[in-house]
Amino acid sequence: MPSIISAAEVTDSMAIHPGYGFLAENGDFAEQVEESGYSFIGPKSETIKLMGNKINAKDAVKEVEINCIPGSDNALDEDMDKIYQLADEIGYPVLIKAAAGGGGKGMRIAHTKASLQHTIDITKAESKSAFGDDTIFMEKLLEEPRHIEFQVLADQHGNAVCLGDRDCSMQRNHQKIIEEAPAPKIPKEKREEMIEKCVSFCKHIGYQSAGTLEFLYENNEFYFIEMNTRLQVEHPVTEMITGIDIVKEQIKVAMGLPLSIKQEDIIQRGHAIECRINAEDSKTFIPSPGKVSLWHPPGGPGIRIDSHLYTGYEVPPYYDSMIAKVIAQANTRESAITRMGIALSEMIVEGIETNLELQIEIMQHNAFKRGGTDIHYLEKRLGL
Ligand code: ADP
Repeated sequence: MPSIISAAEVTDSMAIHPGYGFLAENGDFAEQVEESGYSFIGPKSETIKLMGNKINAKDAVKEVEINCIPGSDNALDEDMDKIYQLADEIGYPVLIKAAAGGGGKGMRIAHTKASLQHTIDITKAESKSAFGDDTIFMEKLLEEPRHIEFQVLADQHGNAVCLGDRDCSMQRNHQKIIEEAPAPKIPKEKREEMIEKCVSFCKHIGYQSAGTLEFLYENNEFYFIEMNTRLQVEHPVTEMITGIDIVKEQIKVAMGLPLSIKQEDIIQRGHAIECRINAEDSKTFIPSPGKVSLWHPPGGPGIRIDSHLYTGYEVPPYYDSMIAKVIAQANTRESAITRMGIALSEMIVEGIETNLELQIEIMQHNAFKRGGTDIHYLEKRLGL
């Protein structure tokens, strides 16, 4: 945090964009940025803090009649009899989650009453060491949900819009690896209802900047899981189909300008898919840092590459393993998949291992081509 604030000082900056790393959702960082006299390009620190606690976030969305996954309404306390009773009411398997959790961490399943106490103890300990907070809560484990999220943008003048949805169900270890917009096979009325609810939620809490409301979708119902009060890795798919530069809008909002877009101006064109390219072994998923001996990104109509790589670049072992994002857009989902397949097969990253091969394979899976696979699809398919 001090290094970034010092960098702003020496470069004579006016504002700090926190990217989408862990500082982007750190309320204390946002506060320090403001206190140091810079503008933080994101929501207010109080909003980041409110939504950073998943229990409070669920309470907040319920105020605008957004459904949440059935579970404990509050943090779990020490009273195991009450906890056992609650788990019986919800029905096993249940999920024990850290209120401060993020990045797919701080989440464990209890399949039976016998394993509940142990699951709680481990989740608490993990949460304490990873997030400095051992507050936990319980949720029903949905068996075949899809992960669908809604992108919002709001300004400092009470205006808010929703740029539509993304399907991020292709996951491993609760981490997204492919995202697409719009989510396939969602009834139009359902989507419109959710767009309206997300907008009214932003207005209700006085949200500012870009954000995402994340849901699990099962049996034609949306259940809120959390809100990310920042730009997300997968924002390009929304940019590609709406033509709206989300980062530019964030900067304008931070400058105090009103949103230039109205809900009725948002038109979605075609379909976009993003594949995350990670420096990791395709089969074992072990990170593969090292020197990139050859980098050849693909191109052509409808292809966007977001990456910092170049031939000779040294992938450091200290950070997240994502090294590039390949985004393909076309008039239809089918053409976007074809475009993505061609782009991935033209891409060359030598010197390190990547998940490129796995991504090429997924583009050829019939289930992916049909659309609407659930969050467990990839792990089942990989036999994990
Ligand atoms: P994080 O903040 O770590 O990203 P989330 O609450 O957003 O955690 O959940 C991440 C992923 O974990 C979801 O996309 C989904 O795959 C899975 N997940 C979370 N809650 C549930 C649940 N109640 N039932 C089934 N899967 C869940």
